[in-house]
Amino acid sequence: MAEHLGTTCVQGGYRPGDAEPRQVPIYQSTTWKYDTSEHMGRLFDLDESGYFYTRLQNPTNDAVAAKICELEGGTAAMLTSSGQAANFFALFNIVGAGDHVVASSAIYGGTYNLIAHTMGRMGIESTFVSPDCTDEELEAAFRPNTKAVFGETVANPALDVLDIERFASAAHAHGVPLIVDNTFPTPVLCRPFEWGADIVTHSTTKYMDGHGAAVGGAIVDSGNFDWEAHADKFPDLTTPDETYHGVVYTQKFGQGAAYITKATSQLMRDLGCIQSPQNAFLLNLGLESLHVRMPQHVKNGQAMAEFLHDHPKVRFVKYPGLPDDPWHELAQKYLPNGCCGVVSFGFTGGRAAAEQFMKSLHVAQIATHVADARTCVLHPANATHRQMTDEELVAAGIAPDMVRLSCGIEDTDDLIADVAQALDALQ
Ligand SMILES: *Cc1c(COP(=O)(O)O)cnc(C)c1O
Repeated sequence: MAEHLGTTCVQGGYRPGDAEPRQVPIYQSTTWKYDTSEHMGRLFDLDESGYFYTRLQNPTNDAVAAKICELEGGTAAMLTSSGQAANFFALFNIVGAGDHVVASSAIYGGTYNLIAHTMGRMGIESTFVSPDCTDEELEAAFRPNTKAVFGETVANPALDVLDIERFASAAHAHGVPLIVDNTFPTPVLCRPFEWGADIVTHSTTKYMDGHGAAVGGAIVDSGNFDWEAHADKFPDLTTPDETYHGVVYTQKFGQGAAYITKATSQLMRDLGCIQSPQNAFLLNLGLESLHVRMPQHVKNGQAMAEFLHDHPKVRFVKYPGLPDDPWHELAQKYLPNGCCGVVSFGFTGGRAAAEQFMKSLHVAQIATHVADARTCVLHPANATHRQMTDEELVAAGIAPDMVRLSCGIEDTDDLIADVAQALDALQ
């Protein structure tokens, strides 16, 4: 039966059998019991699949990961404790000391720190390119030791749109995968695999959970990247893993499952960034309405962007849904049903006006959050991105007076009235 995305949101990943619970059960158990130690031995050898310890696998998490996998159109997926862990695992699974990563400069501040600084301390080099760099600049970023390309479909908070096809073909020309953080559009608005991305990550903390209830992340593999064709670059996937009795992931699990199996059996085993089953349950509740919520986020974001666009106290508005936005053309290609509910804008009154504006809001709440049901607002230069220098801020597309307004799913007119009165209150 051909299934549409909305049905997968509600029913994907878990189909109860006869007389089984309709909700995904929460397996609140660290461990599983076995009748013989031989049976458990086969699980540890990866000769048989099954559950033994929740740090490695848990049925609740697996059901929710399977839903996200179906939504993205992938072949394998896993949940992580956070979006940060998802992006770290997605990269570190194939990149190590002495390797190099090419990344878009328009990415989430935490991911920028991860790649530029923390992974740098692990001996992993990186080069950042603007998402609107020329083909020559993109080409020049690659080195012989480049192992992955990373970008965000719609950048948080800069709202630049990644030209996925262009970045994918550059990555593939150099024999490496493109990893795309698809947090802002979610698969409801964009499915990066359809445009050539190889691996997708999510901060499920955002729209997927959608209610500000649980921090989490996810990694999905398209199964399209041929690791064996580039075996010299990815020996950890294509040669024996002595920490798992010499298993060769690509041979034993195939192109569709090698990457996620390795990330689970090595990285989750050693670094342990598991999502709690309770959080996975909450995430699943959010996913059940994702296809219903996203259009309202888009409707509110578009209406807000249009209102701000013509306001005399607003210096600029960034929203790819606006016809004069520099990313509009790419948004029409990759995000024909809208990009997200997040609108970034600045003030003719500068940084001080941004602070004053936020104090006058009643419906929108000041929060270090984005992309959930309740409208919230943040001043990145003063909060999430305050560790960045002015040059880094500008490179990431973040002006010091920029406010990030995340339109929730409340009534459109109430949101605009709230912003209008706060702008009127500015001196
Ligand atoms: C929030 C966010 C992250 C980090 O996710 P956490 O769940 O907060 O760890 C990564 N990428 C993007 C695009 C985000 O918005």
